[in-house]
Amino acid sequence: MTPRGQSAPDLRRGNRAALLRLVFRHGAIARNDLARILGLTRAGVTILVTNLIDEGLVEEAGLSGASGHAGRRKVFLRIRPQAGKLLGFGVDNEKVQAVLTDLTGSVLAFRNLPSPAVPSLAGQEAIGPLMGFVREATAGLLGGKTCAEAGVLAAGLGVTGRVDASIGVSLREPRLWEGPVALKVPIESALGITVSVDNNVRALALAESLLTESRSHASVGLLFVKYGPGVGGAWTVGGVPWQGIHHGAGELGHTLVELEGPVCPYCGRRGCLESLVSARTLGEKLSMPGLRIDQLIAELEKSDAKAFSLIATRFARALSNAIELYDPGTVALYGLAFKNEALLSAIQERVESNERPCIVRRSYLDPELPAIGGIALALDEILERGGLAVATESRSV
Ligand SMILES: [Zn+2]
Repeated sequence: MTPRGQSAPDLRRGNRAALLRLVFRHGAIARNDLARILGLTRAGVTILVTNLIDEGLVEEAGLSGASGHAGRRKVFLRIRPQAGKLLGFGVDNEKVQAVLTDLTGSVLAFRNLPSPAVPSLAGQEAIGPLMGFVREATAGLLGGKTCAEAGVLAAGLGVTGRVDASIGVSLREPRLWEGPVALKVPIESALGITVSVDNNVRALALAESLLTESRSHASVGLLFVKYGPGVGGAWTVGGVPWQGIHHGAGELGHTLVELEGPVCPYCGRRGCLESLVSARTLGEKLSMPGLRIDQLIAELEKSDAKAFSLIATRFARALSNAIELYDPGTVALYGLAFKNEALLSAIQERVESNERPCIVRRSYLDPELPAIGGIALALDEILERGGLAVATESRSV
């Protein structure tokens, strides 16, 4: 018997997906605990685990130190890192990055290039330079092998602007190109593997939930904020970023924090956070165009204490409003700018969370490695499929 509308293969895939996610989140977990948390019988879990071990996706990882309640030591299970590789891409108007990892997200190698942005080009013509980078970077990272030959199971790409992740299309990103641009289909045909595409900040929020030390307690609501060159945000519940009906949820950078201000070239309004604190705005203020956001923040800290303080105040104002709306457990601040201790602590001091405890901390992700967001998208797709595509593709290599 299966619930209405679900076939036996659907149920099996759903159980495999839930089991793989638990193993991944916990790092190492015993069969008994899997059965208890999933509400499955021990025999059912044993069959699923035996299949996953036979396919090479899961491996045994030693015994518990002390005896359990039943007087037996537990055998821990974990994802086998060598079961396959993942490719991630990060694209914005400053740079494009490709990264190769094992199946658990440990970095093996990466490549950086200046951004392939050609804002004057429209439609599919506009992604010619990006496609060139994707092909060259992949060939370089894989030593000239194809993805199938190198055991790459899936890829993911995070890109700035508005993205419809369900079809892998960049809907709007005037800083990179004009009009909607399909990314998923052409990159899949270039690489020959499944490619997931989403907004870069949502991809990074997923990476924060899936690939950092916070993964074992990701049910806490997370507000993820990226600073540099603009300001982006993503709201996640239980580790899943909420897309929004128009694929624009969590745009903290375009919430209004001042009555007056410059007109924002992205949202067209006055006084949004990004229009006041972006690298472009600070570069113009300091007459130092082209500097990175962390360099600009350091210059302001030295030369203009009032302007430096105002950045923290404006950030704190936007965050306080977001906390009022979302009631998150954690706010993670991502980007080189937040390596500045004075800025981070000034923001933390000024955030008003209205007596609701909310941790405002630096992201655990490396701000020099934005393509890890693409890795999170690829890994999430593999987990969602219960690793079934992985097993098929592994055998064909
Ligand atoms: Zn704006």
